[in-house]
Amino acid sequence: MGPEAGLNLSELTTLRVGGPAATVITAATRDELVDAALTTWAAGDEWLVLGGGSNVVIGDDGFEGTVIRVATRGIERLPGDGVLLRVEAGEPWDGLVAHTVAQGWSGIEALSGIPGSSGAAPIQNIGAYGQELSDVLVAVEFLDYVTGDRQRIPAAELGLGYRTSAIKAGRSGIVLAIELRLRETADGVIRYPQLASALGVESAPVAQIRDGVLALRGAKGMVLDPHDPDSVSCGSFFTNPIVSENFARGLPAETPQWLVDDVDVKLSAAWLIEQAGITRGFRLPGSRVAISSKHTLAITNTGGATADEIGQLARFVQQRVQADFGVILQPEPVFVGFSLL
Ligand SMILES: Cc1cc2nc3c(=O)[nH]c(=O)nc-3n(C[C@H](O)[C@H](O)[C@H](O)COP(=O)(O)OP(=O)(O)OC[C@H]3O[C@@H](n4cnc5c(N)ncnc54)[C@H](O)[C@@H]3O)c2cc1C
Repeated sequence: MGPEAGLNLSELTTLRVGGPAATVITAATRDELVDAALTTWAAGDEWLVLGGGSNVVIGDDGFEGTVIRVATRGIERLPGDGVLLRVEAGEPWDGLVAHTVAQGWSGIEALSGIPGSSGAAPIQNIGAYGQELSDVLVAVEFLDYVTGDRQRIPAAELGLGYRTSAIKAGRSGIVLAIELRLRETADGVIRYPQLASALGVESAPVAQIRDGVLALRGAKGMVLDPHDPDSVSCGSFFTNPIVSENFARGLPAETPQWLVDDVDVKLSAAWLIEQAGITRGFRLPGSRVAISSKHTLAITNTGGATADEIGQLARFVQQRVQADFGVILQPEPVFVGFSLL
């Protein structure tokens, strides 16, 4: 599709905030995507790549540059042993999961219901219910902003970690496609206690795991659903804090914590928020932004909110948790023309 001017970015993001973009180019094929990127980069314009807009908060002033929307499609099984897939960046992630589950392949079934595009999945190394993209990612095809070259970057070189990657941290360019290795077995292992207890088993056919995950996510407002106002969000607004074991010893004894390595522990951001007195459905007086009525980690736009209002509630949550526990919650989504400072 040709460039469009003046589109409001609130229409392209799941949180439904964000002012106008100078130009939006929607790329439906690999060639269009590469062309759009190289032309924009050569012109020296500011640029932003967007998939489903489900992990961004865009400020009310919008974006004074070119937004490149990735709408490429394609899932290809590559030759060789096992199930090796190449997936074009614009392929909707959950459609990919549904496809692999229907084929009877395992590896990403617990990542069912995560909104957005496949090309964005490595950016924060999406994860849920005991699985992470890094468990199955082999490589990405990447159009490098610095060199303008196409590269195949092995997953081991992407700095994948808990909700992060080298790309999220600043390696600039566009993921054109991802390569995944799945298992050719329809039985999946359940690594998440809440899911295992909901299903009453520790391993199950992938289709059953997918259904179980979708039901749990739906109950938390964590699947995009036009009938669920709690899903007008960008998912979890904060990551679970990782603190030193030493620091964690000073927290109240009942604070849930999980060892991540020899010296660090992970805390539950949702628990900290609730204990700081912020309940589900909470909103600041007169605000159109509320904590989800189903999950304290999601901040929702209840209708017509601005990014500024999102910022006010997010800062309030941060301040309350910091005052009570000395922990500064870190945002999970990517901010564009928006900040919590
Ligand atoms: C209801 C809800 C539930 C969610 N649940 C989860 C969850 O359980 N686990 C989880 O990890 N996440 C979750 N998320 C967050 C989000 O769905 C994921 O991060 C998803 O991968 C974002 O995909 P997207 O295409 O929407 O990315 P966008 O929001 O469009 O972009 C996110 C970032 O990635 C960059 N980007 C996008 N595409 C590309 C590309 N092709 N190449 C280079 N950079 C790119 C963008 O510039 C931006 O910086 C949830 C979000 C919502 C709204």
